[in-house]
Amino acid sequence: MTLNSLFKNYNRVDISFEKGEGVWLEGSDGRRYLDMGAGIAVTALGHAHPHLVETLREAAGKVWHTSNLYRIPEQERLAERLCAATFADRVFFCNSGAEANEAAIKAARRYHYVKGAPNRTRIITVEGAFHGRTLGTIAAGGSPKYLEGFGEPLTGFDQVPFNDLKAAEAAIGPDTAAIMVEPIQGEGGIRVMDRQVLKGLRALCDKHGLLLVFDEVQTGLGRLGTLFAYESLGVTPDILASAKGLGGGFPIGACLATEDAASGIVAGTHGTTFGGNALAVTVANAVLDVVLAPGFLDEVKRKGLVAKQLLAGVVDAHPKVFSEIRGEGLMLGVKCTAPIGDVVTAARQEGLLLVPAGEATARLLPALTVTDEELKEATHRLESAARDVERALEAAASA
Ligand SMILES: *Cc1c(COP(=O)(O)O)cnc(C)c1O
Repeated sequence: MTLNSLFKNYNRVDISFEKGEGVWLEGSDGRRYLDMGAGIAVTALGHAHPHLVETLREAAGKVWHTSNLYRIPEQERLAERLCAATFADRVFFCNSGAEANEAAIKAARRYHYVKGAPNRTRIITVEGAFHGRTLGTIAAGGSPKYLEGFGEPLTGFDQVPFNDLKAAEAAIGPDTAAIMVEPIQGEGGIRVMDRQVLKGLRALCDKHGLLLVFDEVQTGLGRLGTLFAYESLGVTPDILASAKGLGGGFPIGACLATEDAASGIVAGTHGTTFGGNALAVTVANAVLDVVLAPGFLDEVKRKGLVAKQLLAGVVDAHPKVFSEIRGEGLMLGVKCTAPIGDVVTAARQEGLLLVPAGEATARLLPALTVTDEELKEATHRLESAARDVERALEAAASA
């Protein structure tokens, strides 16, 4: 097996995994890895969760796909459960985070269109944002490294500095449709938006008749100890994009909206072949069975505090490797003073999988089912990795 027939768009580590259970993965090198990345916050219930495996097995013998030309009972059930658990009145299902954001952008623009303000198409976004890799979402994210070489970016996005309410207000014009933010930037480096700024954005949207869009593709599905982060933060959006953890590893995305915010998306205005097909929504319903069970999210909140405390000890003890801990709940990051690539590699060599992000921050996004013991083990391994990096730095300095 080689990489020769694949597009060269990924820098893959030379390892694969055949078996997994919970937060543990068995590598093709015969070693066991403690997975603190969960496939970038995707396997929310860990690998091979019995309820998900059983649900998918049963679904495999039934109808997989019929298209959205017909009713899909499990899709209706999933939408009703998401609406019952959130601010939303309506849900559109798709297959990824980028598509959920595309739906959010289209819904925001069309909302104003049907209200008689077709000029209101511009969306204010935040520097350091990541909203996906489609042409629309790279324009929304605004990162030059993702835009380079792909021609004229899609117009209609006005970017303002992170946590800068004044700049957001100044960016509002007669053509503004919405403000779109990640409550905590994930790819950007676990950058937590200030609650007061989020509240301020909500107030600006209310004052100017704009829609507030939260990209909760990474923060959602329980990561902060509430189904979506907005509940923890006390600021409610009009539109919310979800994906990643929603299917527990099965590809599915969703765009949630209030009745009003969804009012522009009428028959024929938007769609997708695969979105919300029976297999995907059945698995997502099984994810909700677990995540919405009484006490589950409280446990996530508690474990988030445990993890943060444990990690703080490692960060404090190794200033040559780490400078700070960031994040909330089970969406955490350690900012590195040592080169982040060295830290992530050393961690992997110690059997710990982390996910690199912006601002030299290594992310810990474990399955929500992670135990205290496993968090302690992750801390031990991170500590060993820190010592390895320190030794290598010392060796390099004396060479
Ligand atoms: C991962 C991510 C996306 C993109 O999701 P895809 O499924 O890769 O399209 C969008 N927004 C945020 C906040 C993400 O973390």
